[in-house]
Amino acid sequence: MTSLVIQTAFLGDVVLTTPLLDALATRHGPVDIVTTPGAAALVETHPAVRRVIPYDKRGADRGLAGLIRLVRTLRAGRYDVAYLPHRSLRSAALAWLAGIPQRVGFQDGWRSLYTEGRGRARQGHEIDRLLALGGGSAPHHARPSLHLTVADRAATEQFLQAHGVQEPFVALAPGSIWGSKRWPYYRELAQRLAQHVAIVTVGGPEDAALGEQVVQGVEGGGAAWRAANACGRLSLRQSAELIRRAAVLVTNDSAPLHLAQAVDTPTVAIFGSTVPAFGFGPRGPRDVVVELVGLSCRPCSAHGPPVCPLGHHRCMRDIDVERVLAAIAATGALKST
Ligand code: SF4
Repeated sequence: MTSLVIQTAFLGDVVLTTPLLDALATRHGPVDIVTTPGAAALVETHPAVRRVIPYDKRGADRGLAGLIRLVRTLRAGRYDVAYLPHRSLRSAALAWLAGIPQRVGFQDGWRSLYTEGRGRARQGHEIDRLLALGGGSAPHHARPSLHLTVADRAATEQFLQAHGVQEPFVALAPGSIWGSKRWPYYRELAQRLAQHVAIVTVGGPEDAALGEQVVQGVEGGGAAWRAANACGRLSLRQSAELIRRAAVLVTNDSAPLHLAQAVDTPTVAIFGSTVPAFGFGPRGPRDVVVELVGLSCRPCSAHGPPVCPLGHHRCMRDIDVERVLAAIAATGALKST
């Protein structure tokens, strides 16, 4: 049986789909996956994946011509079954137009284009919901997985050496696509932490300026330890390796949180406009969630709006540095902060 997974959502969603890839591969052999060019590198080394088919839906493959090109590619693949974790019309239409005889999606997706609609639990973790799509039972507390290469490890080591960063270090991921999900005090946190431990900021090219602000705050504060900005300077897998080597990651509700789950690094996850109950929180034994429980406007949207609709952004601004330092201490990952 040849299986295809179409997952063109955000990077974090692709990471959370890896347990489903593993489950399908165990049953039927490695699967093919359609994903975004950005996420392709995350899964191209995964042993559950036979082939990655990049789909640049907002760039080179935008519009009808790109859709038709991909449909032709998928038809040539002669897949028996397609799994559609992303509840988008485009994903459903792709599988249908490609003539894949068995198309499995969630009931609250595009049911008329699927041959099987599976229930999507309102509660529970997204990993378990995705595993349910595959039809198998979810192992207890399944975690995502990534496969990092020797070259990924070497590039990260080279970065750390070039910036004079020695372990232990704390990784900080100050960015998020959604502005309301960004905790505003990473710079102050880094200044405090750098009295005890090295700091590395991690994120994509879009986070480079934010990462630089954090590092400059450390450098200007006469800290005892080094700080380096890796935002936009490492590939995704190299960033995952960086997080793997960190003693602890402090992050917003964004992709680095899921990378840390895959490489088993203790995580302090700061939630603002979204809540862990949506199913995207950390689930490691040493992970700690920081959030303002009881704020009546939380959560205010599924993804988190670009800016606070009420203007005050209290869900994040009212979480002070002391609380995050206490959460880092609670992970047990550092001797003292
Ligand atoms: S409305 Fe509330 S939950 Fe939403 S961003 Fe503003 S403070 Fe945060």
